[in-house]
Amino acid sequence: MSKESTQEQKTTSTHKVSLEAFLKGRAVSRGVGIGKVLYLHGQNRQFYRRVIETGQVGSELKRFRAAVDLAKQQLKEISNGEKEAVSENQSSIFETHLLFLEDRSLLSKIEDIIRDERVNAEWAVKLVTDTYVSRYKLLDDKHLREKYIDLQDISERLLSALGGGAESPFTFDKDSVVVAKEINPSTLVELSQHSPKAIVTENGGWTSHSFILAREMNVPAVTGLKGVLRKVSSGDEIIVDGYNGQVVLNPGPESLDKYRISENQFVKTVDAGFETAEGDDVTLDGVEVNIHANLDYPGGYEHARRFGAKGVGLYRSEFLFNQNKGFPSEELQIASYKKVADLVGEEGVAIRTFDLSVGELSSQARISEKNPALGLKAIRLSLSSEKQFRRQLRALLIASYQRRVEIVLPMISGVAEIRAAKEIIREERKSLTKDSIETGNPGIGAMIEVPSAVFVIDEILKEVDFVSLGTNDLVQYLLAVDRDNESVAESFQTLHPAVLRSVKLVLDSARGAGKPAIVCGEMAGSPLYSAILIGMGATELSMNPNSIPRVRRVVQGIAQEEAAKTTDDLLKLATAGEVEQLVRARFSENWAHLFNYEVLPDKNS
Ligand code: PEP
Ligand code: MG
Repeated sequence: MSKESTQEQKTTSTHKVSLEAFLKGRAVSRGVGIGKVLYLHGQNRQFYRRVIETGQVGSELKRFRAAVDLAKQQLKEISNGEKEAVSENQSSIFETHLLFLEDRSLLSKIEDIIRDERVNAEWAVKLVTDTYVSRYKLLDDKHLREKYIDLQDISERLLSALGGGAESPFTFDKDSVVVAKEINPSTLVELSQHSPKAIVTENGGWTSHSFILAREMNVPAVTGLKGVLRKVSSGDEIIVDGYNGQVVLNPGPESLDKYRISENQFVKTVDAGFETAEGDDVTLDGVEVNIHANLDYPGGYEHARRFGAKGVGLYRSEFLFNQNKGFPSEELQIASYKKVADLVGEEGVAIRTFDLSVGELSSQARISEKNPALGLKAIRLSLSSEKQFRRQLRALLIASYQRRVEIVLPMISGVAEIRAAKEIIREERKSLTKDSIETGNPGIGAMIEVPSAVFVIDEILKEVDFVSLGTNDLVQYLLAVDRDNESVAESFQTLHPAVLRSVKLVLDSARGAGKPAIVCGEMAGSPLYSAILIGMGATELSMNPNSIPRVRRVVQGIAQEEAAKTTDDLLKLATAGEVEQLVRARFSENWAHLFNYEVLPDKNS
């Protein structure tokens, strides 16, 4: 989807003459950043090439050897079945991996590269394993040829182990613009400590977790730039315009002048904390809308509160898993949940249990699935590996004692999963009480984000205290369109009639049952979409903290009755295109001052 144009103007660097190139992608996080390219490699574990000082070679070799030991220890634990339940077949795979890690010739080749080329261990691992992989791929013997898969696995495991030390491998200049094929949320959390100027990726979508995080961290981002990795090297100058999806490689003086003004403006707005809306969140005709924050990393609630958030509508607890590179201990979870609940106070926090897929546990068991979005994930994974689920529920029960904490179950497809989870909660409460440990009585909610849950919403509502509408996954699963896949981004249509009708059905059913329905997908944080939600009767919206000021302006600037007239008409339409046309016509006619420049976030290309 990237469009490209190259201008005649030339910029000269020491080694090459580079043309200024304009690439057009999809804007997924607002703002402008100018800096130097930092090229990220790797998939599960991401890293970049770093030249080290002669004096650092010794410690880099030490770091590498420690990583090999850690990887070997993990493999031993897994093949003995200590960490996860693994089949005999898987166990023999891990034994093969162990043999590779005991192969001196492989290890000394990596050490030679660290020593001779003075590069970081990650880069040396990549160079050597890539060479082995391409050699294996050329072999005639099918059995031997397939060993390249084992090598790729070993490479990932070593890279992961290298990142497992206390010291983050990411230390780079403050003006770096990260360029990658795609970016993992865990990498982004690490990168954020070094304040990257912007992010550019080949692949991703508006609702990809990494870009949800980028928006929360105010890092401008553009995605959908297919082939960009072939056009850049680390150190190249680059401009990223996250308002319009424009990327400029090797910018000339004119572009630099122009974009520096926008960059300064963006930095000033962020520093000033955006404009904060005053007053109550009530529509012109008196309908109160409660605005909550979504939290995806620890520091997030600070500005959410300043913007006027009423508590946390969705706490994605997976960040604890990402930060700890595995399941956090019960003590750590109790402390984290208590901390956020104390910070938020009376307004309360809805903590979602781990929404992970089995592939994300890969440093433990390296299980890859063909269709992870349809695989062993979220509530299914929790119910299948009960040990971790029980630990998290215990932590939540303890943390909720005298605190406003609620529990949200992700990816509920029907009532049976809710009943199973509630039974575990009952059992854990009983056992805690038996041990004289005080517990709270948290409300239980279900994420409604799988189409089957929409169809059995009335039955679900009988089982829970509230529901949370996860529109990101709801769009993905209703339309069978991967939310992380740039090639199908055009088909990710939040305004598809099936999406709107499902949302309406859930909102109406919840109102009928007298239970809250919190809309917490990215739809809630987009000004134009939030007006549609309000028109459909939503009164609880939970969003990225940085979206709060713009959505509050919408809430205070529209009349619910007027919006409802429009949404009634939208619900009769047949295509997303027709819906969009009518929305634009009605809303810009009535409330031009609110939506004049609004580009639909999943249409921004
Ligand atoms: C959603 O699916 O809309 C949601 C809120 O959850 P997540 O984005 O974490 O999948
Ligand atoms: Mg979801």
